[in-house]
Amino acid sequence: MNPMLSAPGRVEAVALADVAREFGTPCYVYSRAALEAAYAGYRDALTQHGLSGRSLICYAVKANSNLAILNVFARLGAGFDIVSGGELARVLAAGGEAKKIVFSGVAKSRDEMRAALQAGIHCFNVESLSELHLLNEVAGELGQRAPVSLRVNPDVDAKTHPYISTGLKSNKFGVAFTDALDVYRQAAKLPNLRVTGIDCHIGSQLLDPAPAAEATDKLIGLVDALAAEGIVLQHIDVGGGMGITYQANDPAPAAADYLAPILSRLAKRTEQVVMEPGRSLVGNAGLLLTEVRVLKPGEVKNFAIVDAAMNDLARPALYDAWHDIVKVPQVGAGGTAIPQKTYEIVGPVCESGDFLGHDRDLALAEGDLLAVLSAGAYGMAMASNYNTRPRAAEVMIDGDSMHLVREREKVADLFAAEKRLP
Ligand SMILES: *Cc1c(COP(=O)(O)O)cnc(C)c1O
Repeated sequence: MNPMLSAPGRVEAVALADVAREFGTPCYVYSRAALEAAYAGYRDALTQHGLSGRSLICYAVKANSNLAILNVFARLGAGFDIVSGGELARVLAAGGEAKKIVFSGVAKSRDEMRAALQAGIHCFNVESLSELHLLNEVAGELGQRAPVSLRVNPDVDAKTHPYISTGLKSNKFGVAFTDALDVYRQAAKLPNLRVTGIDCHIGSQLLDPAPAAEATDKLIGLVDALAAEGIVLQHIDVGGGMGITYQANDPAPAAADYLAPILSRLAKRTEQVVMEPGRSLVGNAGLLLTEVRVLKPGEVKNFAIVDAAMNDLARPALYDAWHDIVKVPQVGAGGTAIPQKTYEIVGPVCESGDFLGHDRDLALAEGDLLAVLSAGAYGMAMASNYNTRPRAAEVMIDGDSMHLVREREKVADLFAAEKRLP
């Protein structure tokens, strides 16, 4: 059973049927306990390697930026990895500490740099020479020295989906490994910068730690070469990317096992260790609850048309990603047994790519509730209003309490900023 479910149809002490009754569907449901357990996996791995005193777990906000989720991590002492000024504002609104924020992203604007400097973030993860010069200029205007790390592209093959592989020479991310020494030398000469670290992020949904361990070795080699020239770095940021279980019986590694080869390398050193996990902190702490609207037997396939769609959860349409889909048992259900059939689980959006799952064996009746599992990461964060569909409500379960952490959008809100011609 998915780690988020305490029993079929239950999250912590709450029945999903009650969540649907109270808040409607489609609805994202999160578990505070599951978020905390995922965070503890990282913290414990750091402790095991003697790194708890010199490390920072920066949750990658883009995986799920709901304020309640950010707040749960902020209370645990987490830092944050942001990729925009918008995410900076969210983290601060959620109670995150500016000095624990690292700012990633390939093309930060002047305004974003200024806001982050004024907030006093931990570090800018800089990805190009051009960005380095712009940051130097903006920091100078504010009379500050900006803390910088260079995102180095270690040119390792993360062996994941091409859309989420980021550490190859052919990707748009980072400074090429072969240019890194030279770019550091230039950075060290810019008066309004403080060179403090090095970072990388080679991809997402990584199941084998070997590529990340190889990248860590490459970073360490660079850090030592820089030190020999008098450029001494204070932190090494190994990025995020640890994969999660999406399909039962297809287990992703435990955090301790995945992180061991990376952290054992860093434990021998003195720099602060920074990590940027996104998916692995939230993915299996969230599910998408949806109701079966229409059962439609087809000539070749049976369709179960549900009230959630590709605009709510884009991953299946975008990456052909698999999410386990389970039926939520109805309280007091009984009566005639429903035959199990093989269904295409699809949404109401006008696109043939609008599916949540292919070929699922389920015994369904109209009105049944389904839980699309492992949807906590890159689910709501990628949701859109395509087909003028209001985005789903979000609810966080904490023990026996349910908290509405984002109201369902209203149709009127969707075009409130639009204008007709005079
Ligand atoms: C997306 C991203 C992450 C998080 O990746 P996950 O696979 O969700 O852990 C970390 N760092 C950077 C720079 C990213 O772009």
